[in-house]
Amino acid sequence: MAAPTIVVAEDDGAIRDLVIHHLERDGFSVVAAADGHAALRHARRGADLVILDVGLPGVDGFEVARALRREDRDVPIVLLTARVEEIDRVVGFELGADDYVCKPFSPRELVARVRAVLRRSGGASPRRPTLLRFGRLEIDEAAREVRVDGIDVRLKPREFALLLELASNAGIALSRERLLERVWGFDFDGDPRTVDVHVRRLRVKIEEGPRLPQVVHTIHGFGYKFARA
Ligand code: CA
Repeated sequence: MAAPTIVVAEDDGAIRDLVIHHLERDGFSVVAAADGHAALRHARRGADLVILDVGLPGVDGFEVARALRREDRDVPIVLLTARVEEIDRVVGFELGADDYVCKPFSPRELVARVRAVLRRSGGASPRRPTLLRFGRLEIDEAAREVRVDGIDVRLKPREFALLLELASNAGIALSRERLLERVWGFDFDGDPRTVDVHVRRLRVKIEEGPRLPQVVHTIHGFGYKFARA
């Protein structure tokens, strides 16, 4: 089965690249558009879903959505909105958008929305393993469950996201900055030590001896690494 094609229409290059990176990493095929005209062109050529920034140069995101619906194209649309004033119009979905995400957003959240919209619309979503096992630890991504020795461990959403990011990159040292970007979102401008605090909490819940961690290793002066399976 071919990977679903997503049009990413966003004029801010940094946001566009980040969204593309996350979608591609999750197995989607991506077409980039930096303005409304390009977005329309790509969407008309056939796409499985369109991510549309509302504030696009040329034809704005609202206009693009309206044009596509006028043409009776039922391609799912997820709007990216930056201003509070936009939200009312978006929330009513008067434009026929399927979902929306407010900036700043975490790329992870956006990808999750994309998957949900594709699922609802009957479109294909790329398959990926959702059960990760590391010794005594089991992470069920689809069910959002974590077990140690078969016993459920309750994690807060951020702890779960952090664990998933680390476990998905087992054996690779991840810097605090990268973890902040991936787990907290690229617009998070907090202290990198936030990562340390969350790792500490995570260890208490998943490590046999949190003082001698076997699962999440500290890379001094850099960040963390999940043990190889
Ligand atoms: Ca914009």
